[in-house]
Amino acid sequence: MDYRAVFAKKDTQTSQSEALAGMTENSAGGYAYPVNDWTRLNRFLILGSEGGTYYVGQRPLTIENAKSIERCIDEDGVRVVETVIAVSDEGRAPKNDPALFVLAMAAGLGDEDTRKAAFAALPKVARTGTHLFHFAHFIEGFRGWGRGLRRAVANWYLAMDAERLSLQLVKYKQRDGWSHRDLLRLAHPKTEDADRRALFGWTVQPDNDNAVQQAAENFRLIDGMIKLQGVTDASAAVKIIRQYSLPREAVPTKLLNERGVWNALLEDMPLTAMIRNLGKMSTSDIGLLTNGSKAANYVADTLRTKDALRKARIHPLTLLTAQKTYAVGRGLKGKLEWAPVSSIIDALDDAFYKSFSNIEPTGKRIMIALDVSGSMQQRIAGSAIMASEASAAMALVTAACEKHVHIVGFSAGDDWNPIKHFGKSKPANRYWEPGIKPLPISAKQRLDDVQKVIAQQTFGATDCALPMLYAMDKNLEVDAFVIYTDSETWFGDIHPVEALRKYRQKTGIAAKLVVVGMTSNGFTIADPNDAGMMDIVGFDTAAPSMISDFIRGESQ
Ligand code: CA
Repeated sequence: MDYRAVFAKKDTQTSQSEALAGMTENSAGGYAYPVNDWTRLNRFLILGSEGGTYYVGQRPLTIENAKSIERCIDEDGVRVVETVIAVSDEGRAPKNDPALFVLAMAAGLGDEDTRKAAFAALPKVARTGTHLFHFAHFIEGFRGWGRGLRRAVANWYLAMDAERLSLQLVKYKQRDGWSHRDLLRLAHPKTEDADRRALFGWTVQPDNDNAVQQAAENFRLIDGMIKLQGVTDASAAVKIIRQYSLPREAVPTKLLNERGVWNALLEDMPLTAMIRNLGKMSTSDIGLLTNGSKAANYVADTLRTKDALRKARIHPLTLLTAQKTYAVGRGLKGKLEWAPVSSIIDALDDAFYKSFSNIEPTGKRIMIALDVSGSMQQRIAGSAIMASEASAAMALVTAACEKHVHIVGFSAGDDWNPIKHFGKSKPANRYWEPGIKPLPISAKQRLDDVQKVIAQQTFGATDCALPMLYAMDKNLEVDAFVIYTDSETWFGDIHPVEALRKYRQKTGIAAKLVVVGMTSNGFTIADPNDAGMMDIVGFDTAAPSMISDFIRGESQ
């Protein structure tokens, strides 16, 4: 017997079905490192737990995350609130709900300082009426409507610029069983400001003629909206929409099948609404967005405006989803059909790259390895995009600005010694495919095409050590391995960190490892005690710049 193959202190390797010191069992039955509660907080804030992971349902995943957040609040609640603000206010997450939920937890479970900080943060994190309703819904799970909470909600109505507030009251009427009327009655914001009083009066008593008149006198938006009620003639409606710069929400439904109405709305349409209504405006009924039309050019130009994207906090996942849906020419629910305009698909592509924070190229040799195993088919953050597709799109953000990037996809098995795992008879399963290979994708391709390439990859088991083994086998010089994965590795006979150390030893390159976590689970393949390894949360708009900062050596 070769005892050394079983136990050694030097030149050792351990099967992924056995733990290294500090590891914990992952959901796939392999072993990985647990992430700390703060990393997990960031994962939750950015990815949420909607839809769960491949292994864990939405409900247990939410409970796991909430327990981890509770520990963070116990440890340093003010830091939790600061983290929420950093993610939410910068628009780093595809959805704001996780931020509102964590803020509600902090406001309900935190000590006095934490609660104060959470209430003070409310206007920054709850920026729209809908956000406020979500918060009101969430917080009832953690506390009652005491004075502090009522004052915080009152302040939300008092602190916002009055014009902007009028828009919130018009656009977002109710959600989650809450309306502005309910919240105003509960919170009783007190003010001497006549404009604001008129606005509150109209919201609480929408059928009181006097209140309506007061609000209309003080706010053009409400004046215009009231004038538009009952108008059936499209050209008359267009005039009012233009004159009062009305948003779509102020327009009666029956007018929303008129091309002229959409044309008028488009002039002042916020970017979020524009992206949401691309399909509708491209239908043959509306016919506003057609190849070469003035409106199509305007939309394409607007989508490419970096400032506008930032200001509206348009998230890259929103753009990726919008492009995927728009290019197909059919709504997700299948009700609408349209002829997609190619210049708009291209503009969404450019917008995707622009919606990440700026990256400084490192000039280093980077291998980006995408986990395309079965578990990465899971949709992320409640979107229609698979984790593997999302990874590929993000990888291209790095690829677009770096000279020496090599992108591979991996699942499990290896093409140089498959017998090792399966003996001599060839099983009729996919693990016989090469476990890792270069992916034919580049930043010059359109993202919807890239997603098609990824969707065709072979899915199977997971071995996160393959990128390092592959680089060793092919004599590739790599300064940094960037692995997009859920860290549910289990298949290999060597742990990823051991493979990385072997690679460093063999090549003399102090190669770094960046693990981009694509779910809000609690695992990572990065050794928390190795300064050359780092965890990044997937689909954070700051992720590509954080990756390059780490590779360049400016952060740890
Ligand atoms: Ca997997």
